[in-house]
Amino acid sequence: MSLNIGVIGTGAIGQEHIRRCNKVLQGGRVVAVNDINADHAAKVVINQRLEAKVYENGHDLINAPDVDAVLVTSWGPSHEEFVLSAIQAGKPVFCEKPLAVTAEGCKRIVEAEARHGKRLVQVGFMRPYDSGYRALKAVIGSGQIGEPLMLHCAHRNPEVGDSYTTDMAITDTLIHEIDVLRWLLDDDYVSVQVVFPRRTSNAYSHLKDPQIVLFETAKGTRIDVEIFVNCRYGYDIQCEVVGETGIARLPEPSSVQLRSEAKLSTSILMDWKDRFIDAYDVELQGFINDVLAGQLTGPSAWDGYAAAVTADACVAAQLSGEIVPVTMPPRPAFYNQPAG
Ligand code: NAP
Repeated sequence: MSLNIGVIGTGAIGQEHIRRCNKVLQGGRVVAVNDINADHAAKVVINQRLEAKVYENGHDLINAPDVDAVLVTSWGPSHEEFVLSAIQAGKPVFCEKPLAVTAEGCKRIVEAEARHGKRLVQVGFMRPYDSGYRALKAVIGSGQIGEPLMLHCAHRNPEVGDSYTTDMAITDTLIHEIDVLRWLLDDDYVSVQVVFPRRTSNAYSHLKDPQIVLFETAKGTRIDVEIFVNCRYGYDIQCEVVGETGIARLPEPSSVQLRSEAKLSTSILMDWKDRFIDAYDVELQGFINDVLAGQLTGPSAWDGYAAAVTADACVAAQLSGEIVPVTMPPRPAFYNQPAG
């Protein structure tokens, strides 16, 4: 059986996911598209040679009888209404992050899904689908390094534009670590603090860069994440897990080793899109397979909610300089099935 997919939002990532569904992945095809700018959606249909109907309204697309599942790739503030509409229609929905722009919005989605009685929502956190993070999780799970005690992580970008603000280091950048480290450790955050080292002269004057975010988890593991978005030299993601009896590191992306001019070197990626390109394929193929099998297993609405609550605490910690508690209600039994 082939899954008929409707896509809401035909911007950058929407077009990428449409291309994936039609050219790379198995078991699904895009039959319907919508964008706030219908002409834009119509152009994407032509450019990607789709046999897809253009809908003027996202809700009409969701309710179309021939649409089996929905991808929400519109801008963040519109996600909540489309995800709630898909739940109302009883259709599986893959929503790019953020699930909603407020923790309250995420909670409304969690409650609607629980009322429906079956998981319908997957959030577009793709790092748990990266082969490096999966290998790292397998090593931790094997017990080879004992229990994780500390994590040292970094998220570095070469540069950001002047519209990037200090809180976006949390909501746009750290948000991926917030999700993946929780998944990696199978643990929850209980508190966070943010400290600001000496500012780089390469950042716009309104931006505090770099930042160090310090988490404590429920099991007592301590995590430091450096966010440095004007590091100039490359897009670099680091994660080192210090365990009781050993250390495990996230593998570097593969790159040819070059011996030349008296130097031994490997390249560092410059563009974030290249770093996790394979993970996006695995992520969306997983969603299609799970929908066809009748049981979603990827990052859940609860994971989207946990990320939003944690991000709010991080932003509060940026402003206060204090240690801020991360307070989540207990996870409902409905979400106890592990993700990934
Ligand atoms: P984008 O290029 O701006 O695309 C968003 C598209 O949605 C635009 O065409 C926009 O139209 C349209 N849109 C806005 N409101 C809408 C509505 N109410 N109904 C239908 N369409 C609407 O942004 P993007 O980079 O693709 O990002 C989209 C989402 O994906 C964001 O939430 C972003 O955080 C997320 N994302 C996730 C990742 C990841 O690594 N997981 C990577 C990139 C993006 P207009 O341009 O006319 O407003």
